[in-house]
Amino acid sequence: MDHKAGFVNIIGNPNVGKSTLMNAFVGERLSIITSKAQTTRHRILGIVNGDDFQMILSDTPGIIKPAYEMQKSMMDFVKSAFEDADVLIYMVEIGEKELKDEAFFNKIIHSKIPVLLILNKIDKSNQEQLDEQVELWSEKVPNAEIFAISALENFNVQMVFDRIVELLPVSPAFYPKDTLTDKPERFFVNEIIREKILLNYDKEIPYAVEIETEEFIEDEKIIRVRAVIMVERDSQKGIIIGHKGSALKRVGIQARADLEKFFGKQIHLETYVKVNKDWRTSAYQLKRFGYNNK
Ligand code: GDP
Ligand code: MG
Repeated sequence: MDHKAGFVNIIGNPNVGKSTLMNAFVGERLSIITSKAQTTRHRILGIVNGDDFQMILSDTPGIIKPAYEMQKSMMDFVKSAFEDADVLIYMVEIGEKELKDEAFFNKIIHSKIPVLLILNKIDKSNQEQLDEQVELWSEKVPNAEIFAISALENFNVQMVFDRIVELLPVSPAFYPKDTLTDKPERFFVNEIIREKILLNYDKEIPYAVEIETEEFIEDEKIIRVRAVIMVERDSQKGIIIGHKGSALKRVGIQARADLEKFFGKQIHLETYVKVNKDWRTSAYQLKRFGYNNK
């Protein structure tokens, strides 16, 4: 059989389950998943290799209206999802009625590449509601093939996967067949720490934070990691650290446990907090943290 390879981009509103689906495909925890919107800021490539195919998946930030520089740059990532894809996955969740961005919606219904509309979270619905939703979406996006799934419970995920493989063009592999992702190790360190921050602090704190892994040194038995947690204001620094360092310690313990699972090695993790005013709005800083991919 001919070898197939291609790019699959997953788009949709925040929190519909894009990262969950991609992780179910890739079988590794590449993308961080929480119930908060905008967890995924970058496009992440996950690569699934079979004997005769290579599926290159990218998980985009949810579709949102840009409110400040960072979000604008996030939207550029989403827009580029239309440009390099062989298959487009448009994900919606049970109960959702429309895409927030109309221009975007138009792009999807006029897409020249195959669109799979994935209706996710059907574990939360009943048959009646499901039938209703399938009908609604087949009217709204007539060019799409519709699949009703539960990414979380791994229901119908394999069916979607098999259909994507069918749709991939005949092509040699784009990446070496043992590659799981094109992101460097430090990126995953940053993402895992950021996830713990999302889980441990309230309100605006997680969105004022950026992580930079300054050191990643791998020995035979242990990986030594030093990461800086960047915040915008002194007050935020205090909150992150907590009473006698207790809050930061908790983040460190949780992150270390996940990092050890992810890298399969003992981890020595050192974290410290630094104030870096307005990192979100400064174009220079955004570039430094990789939000501008141009
Ligand atoms: P993303 O923002 O689109 O990437 O969404 P995530 O994959 O981060 O998922 C957002 C939330 O929805 C998380 O709490 C997931 O556990 C949850 N979720 C994802 N898929 C399902 C599903 O099939 N059923 C249910 N009940 N929850 C799901
Ligand atoms: Mg996500």
